Amino acid sequence: MPDIIQLLPDNIANQIAAGEVIQRPASAVKELLENAVDAGATEIKLIVNDAGKALVQVIDNGKGMSETDARMSFERHATSKIKNIDDLFHIKTMGFRGEALASIAAVAQVELKSKKVEDTTGTYIEIDNSLVKKQEPVAMQQGTSIAMKNLFFNVPARRNFLKSNPSELRHIVDEFTRVAMAFPDVFFSLTSNGQQVFHLEKGTLKQRIVQILGNNYNAKLVSVQEQSNYMNIYGFVGKPDTAKKTRGDQYFFVNNRFIKSAYLNHAIMGAFAEMIAKDSFPMYTLFIELDPSQIDINVHPTKQEIKFEDEKIVYAFVQSAVKHSLAQFSISPTLDFELDASIQHSDAVSKPFTEERKSAATFSSLYNTFTKKNQAHFIENKSELKHWKDLYEPAKNESGFLGSTTEPVIEDQITINREQEFISLRAFATQPAMAMENLVQLHNTYIVLQNDTGFILIHQQNAHERILYERFVKAIDGKPIAIQQSLFPITIELAAMDTVIVNELLPELHLLGYHLEPFGNNTFVIQGTPADIAVGNEKTAIEKMLEQFKHFSTDLKYNKREKLLRSLAWQQAIKAGTSLKQKEMKILAEDLFACNTPNINPNGKPTYTVFKKNELDKMFGR
Ligand code: ADP
Ligand code: MG
Repeated sequence: MPDIIQLLPDNIANQIAAGEVIQRPASAVKELLENAVDAGATEIKLIVNDAGKALVQVIDNGKGMSETDARMSFERHATSKIKNIDDLFHIKTMGFRGEALASIAAVAQVELKSKKVEDTTGTYIEIDNSLVKKQEPVAMQQGTSIAMKNLFFNVPARRNFLKSNPSELRHIVDEFTRVAMAFPDVFFSLTSNGQQVFHLEKGTLKQRIVQILGNNYNAKLVSVQEQSNYMNIYGFVGKPDTAKKTRGDQYFFVNNRFIKSAYLNHAIMGAFAEMIAKDSFPMYTLFIELDPSQIDINVHPTKQEIKFEDEKIVYAFVQSAVKHSLAQFSISPTLDFELDASIQHSDAVSKPFTEERKSAATFSSLYNTFTKKNQAHFIENKSELKHWKDLYEPAKNESGFLGSTTEPVIEDQITINREQEFISLRAFATQPAMAMENLVQLHNTYIVLQNDTGFILIHQQNAHERILYERFVKAIDGKPIAIQQSLFPITIELAAMDTVIVNELLPELHLLGYHLEPFGNNTFVIQGTPADIAVGNEKTAIEKMLEQFKHFSTDLKYNKREKLLRSLAWQQAIKAGTSLKQKEMKILAEDLFACNTPNINPNGKPTYTVFKKNELDKMFGR
């Protein structure tokens, strides 16, 4: 019996391999456009004839190739983009497999022209069926032009599988727009059978979206933007009234790579829940950026699928970012609440995550904070995210219903309600005349405030801790606190250990209104204290603050400054069980609403709860 195994000739092997990469003209369009982008082109022209079946040509003004590189580029696994397997996890380019040109050359006739800026002549190469037919110098501008002619001329079976011209052209336009969308600072044009179909001038992402998807989106885009250490998201979603009955205007990019992800689409749809009809599709063009080591783009040959190291985090981040943007958009006067511009632009709604909020987040249970507002901000780093992931587990075990579906289920409802709640709190704040009269204190602990839409219950201590904390943050950031100078300076003697702490804290204490002067032998002179500390209480105030500071000292997660702020806030706050006068309650409520993060105290405990009148009515069958 003779041996029967033989090696396939290169051109056949290439043809087979090409099947994965080049399925239709549009696949070549994608690969060639991406190569042009990778080459740093600022102008990219796509020309197709006969829906790409006769010709797909991409002309770019990128960096071009040397004669050797031009020849090499058609070899299988020839790439300038990765050198070893590690590079695969730091990919910043669109291509990396070194298969596209080899595949195209295996199933079509190819003409390449390329010139680097520093070379005097360019290189012209003609390849048929993986075989070089011609190679010669050519005079040309910097850049590259690759023309793919008569796709599948040598694989008739596959040629027969191509769809009608309109259908293939649609695929081409899809690929073209995906690349063009991701690079608004690059000029793109598409010419089909001699007619220019797209002419996309360089511009902003917003302009690019309108250029591609049409003018009707012009005033209808809501910007999405959230940043964290782990990942960023930016882009636009269409206002709910632009949602369409057909899916289509939906673009999602990961590190500028278009991807299809039912999972992330679900996240976005979840953010739109209740705002659009069930069977309609919102427009979105969203970009997420994250460390390439957190994704695996290698899972699919045409790279439209992607694996995330931790997809639940990405899901939640995307969803909360979109929700956050939509919430901002919906705080327009046409909706439930009469809110003025100052509120729309208020810090809590518009401000990025500050140090202070960040520490509030770290301290509180992540569940608590995530279900409140600006959730995306809380996704700060991997270690935090680990707890964050626990969010799913207990919920699953307790109720079972979360676990019963493979669909991702995250705290949609809660989040959106909280968002609303937050907005309605702001609404309370803007109607002082209504809400701030005849305040009631319950159990010397809770303050009741009402308006048309219901009432809220404020926890006086939690609320005051929040107010003081923000005041101290401001003070330390340079807006000093009112000080009363001591007429007859008091001295305070501390334990040696406390002396060390106070010496360390002197500058911060000064900003916060405590003027202490070291007097030797563990003694300090109190030259001044914050104006709101009652005369005679100076010593105790400092002692209590120190006590609290030491309490926080075991907590490594806080820096010195943070510990100090928290200690003071705790120490000076009105305690639960203290009877308050009308005026005091009013000031407390007003001050709370003026806070950046009014809904939680510095430790993440809620400061208030909203009771909506319509819900109360429902409880009573009304
Ligand atoms: P990959 O993009 O995965 O590296 P390709 O087969 O698409 O593989 O391209 C092979 C190589 O040819 C690229 O790595 C690049 O160096 C070079 N190349 C391809 N197209 C261009 C272009 N338009 N301009 C400059 N260089 C190009
Ligand atoms: Mg490529």
